[in-house]
Amino acid sequence: MRVHYICKACGVQYEATHHPPDICKICSDERQYVPLTGQKWTTLEELKQESFHNEFVEIEQGLWSIRTYPQIGIGQKAYLIRTDEGNILWDCITYLDEKTINKINELGGLRGIAISHPHYYSTIIEWGNAFQCPIYIHEKDHEWLTRTCSLIHFWNGDSLELTKHLSLIHVGGHFEGSSVLLWTLGSYKKGTLLVGDSIYIVPDQGWLSFIYSAPNHIPLSAKVVNNIKMSLENYDFEAIYGAFDHKIEQGGKNSFIKSADRYIHFLNS
Ligand SMILES: [Zn+2]
Ligand SMILES: [Zn+2]
Repeated sequence: MRVHYICKACGVQYEATHHPPDICKICSDERQYVPLTGQKWTTLEELKQESFHNEFVEIEQGLWSIRTYPQIGIGQKAYLIRTDEGNILWDCITYLDEKTINKINELGGLRGIAISHPHYYSTIIEWGNAFQCPIYIHEKDHEWLTRTCSLIHFWNGDSLELTKHLSLIHVGGHFEGSSVLLWTLGSYKKGTLLVGDSIYIVPDQGWLSFIYSAPNHIPLSAKVVNNIKMSLENYDFEAIYGAFDHKIEQGGKNSFIKSADRYIHFLNS
């Protein structure tokens, strides 16, 4: 029987096969790693037999984070943004059960799913099928897809307006197609930026970093960091939320510019 295997290390689901893939292309890439214990596989059906659950937290009015406990794969958060024109899921998590589908439907369902970069491809096709909505992926990351589906909408260029107040912006760097999502109504209309780890929020309050690989501590070049800086130069935002716990609630644009300048300074010195 063919099944859609999921890599236990990164949580990304593959095309249906009789046997688990030999390697996970996400984990064997130099930005991630294969655990010492080797590549292990599971399926969504198997995960549903265990004691996982997704926790929803309302961060500000209209913005929810969704995270699985106990952790699966990288352990990232997804975010649900509610708008008058329908809801968008930003990034995605591997675990999806009936309870999660019901909760999202209570919040108004999904109009689309937008993904920052391949580390969070997770089970996007399962989510797309459950809500019958398009999945937005930057075409520059096309090669990293591990499962295909007609719901996937490849976008290109510098930005894509998803709704009147929600736009995807291509920043590059961490992955060629790395993108962020700007919600102009967020933070009392001062703008909320959702970054996955295309832009990395660090523990020091009000600071960000720019990484090629987080686990393997590989930096980007000064030129690429400057390109990231330029890509958001014309946008304003107050709060910045990433895939993990660190966040910036005030002065986001200023933090972004000073962090890019600091990083470029160190790369050049
Ligand atoms: Zn993997
Ligand atoms: Zn990543």
